[in-house]
Amino acid sequence: MDSVVLMDKQGRKRLVRLGAGMLNVEGLGVLDSAKVSSSIGKPVEIAGRKFLVLSASLTDHLENIERGAQIVVAKDSASIVQRCDIMAGDLVVEGGSGSGALTLALAHAVFPDGRVVSYELREDFAGIARRNVAAAGLSGAVEVRLGDITSGITERDAKAVVLDLPEPWLAIPAAWNALAPCGHIASYSPTMEQVKETVRALKALPFVEIRTTEILEREIEVKETGVRPAFAPIGHTGYITTARKVLETLS
Ligand code: SAH
Repeated sequence: MDSVVLMDKQGRKRLVRLGAGMLNVEGLGVLDSAKVSSSIGKPVEIAGRKFLVLSASLTDHLENIERGAQIVVAKDSASIVQRCDIMAGDLVVEGGSGSGALTLALAHAVFPDGRVVSYELREDFAGIARRNVAAAGLSGAVEVRLGDITSGITERDAKAVVLDLPEPWLAIPAAWNALAPCGHIASYSPTMEQVKETVRALKALPFVEIRTTEILEREIEVKETGVRPAFAPIGHTGYITTARKVLETLS
């Protein structure tokens, strides 16, 4: 086991990367890795304080991600994974990596035998994405490649190409070439202008089932005094456009 979450009585969580032997964790003191990893689902005492030991989930890694670019959140990445039919063993091409939040969700879905090749223009973001992927224990399934995805994708027969770029429409010809027949493309964009250009580019090539949605998520507070939506407003994230590559359309 690579990482665990230590949860205190107030529900505050701390992601801890376990190593061999004794570990000195800042603000916590010294803990015994073997004792912690054999206490999943149970409390342990560290420096006189009690913590519940949880196995680290994808959500835990996403909550602790080092941020550079704006990240894609779970409601959107989960929908992208399902609509692109991404499963264990698949080859997925992504552009750009940004902080690697979407990369983590994609890698988690193709793990352990699949592969995500994620193109990133900027060296600093490539570094952040690689660190986040490594911290989540998913390096074996991910290659963050420095490069411009709009100037070509080396991979062929990909199950899916997933885009989160300022100008995704420029990458659509390269995506068509990289996809296997009936492979899926997904593009995530914050503005409707981007969606319009993207759909126009998809319609210019043999793609079918072109569809754009916005996913809204509302937290529900469950209390003895009443069950109702939280007061927090529903924030905008992005629109998701998906389509499937075919070799020829019906004329
Ligand atoms: N989906 C990411 C965020 C991506 S932000 C996440 O969840 O963390 C968009 C990223 O695309 C930026 O890092 C930017 O540098 C990169 N980018 C922009 N144009 C690109 C291009 N043509 N090829 C590759 N990467 C590109």
